[in-house]
Amino acid sequence: MSHEDCIFCKIIDGDIPSAKVYEDDFVYAFLDISQVTKGHTLIIPKKHTKNIYETPEDIAREFFARVPKVANAIKATYNPIGMNLLNNNEKPADQSVFHLHIHLIPRYGENDGYS
Ligand code: 5GP
Ligand code: ZN
Repeated sequence: MSHEDCIFCKIIDGDIPSAKVYEDDFVYAFLDISQVTKGHTLIIPKKHTKNIYETPEDIAREFFARVPKVANAIKATYNPIGMNLLNNNEKPADQSVFHLHIHLIPRYGENDGYS
């Protein structure tokens, strides 16, 4: 299920370049183009779904099951001292790309730029 006007579907298809962090049959993870901290990553399901409200249970299962693996890959690569996970749903909650995603934001200390 690929949506024509969805930039994250284009990233999955390779039509928009991205820095891959992790990939398997169900999810793709890549560096956010606007790094709030070093290693800021987005994980997305390969099947297009708009946000948490519209995500069927089978996609949710595949998607969320892989979040720890991606978090640990980022931890191993960047050696942060902590990590925030963030999921924005709908415009008033700062969702700007309407393909479900979780931000993984590595933390390095008080002055790491994320508050
Ligand atoms: P949202 O605001 O919807 O929670 O997060 C969308 C995120 O997608 C933003 O942090 C933004 O920087 C990132 N983003 C938007 N377009 C692109 C792109 O073309 N490539 C990458 N790697 N990230 C993008
Ligand atoms: Zn999409």
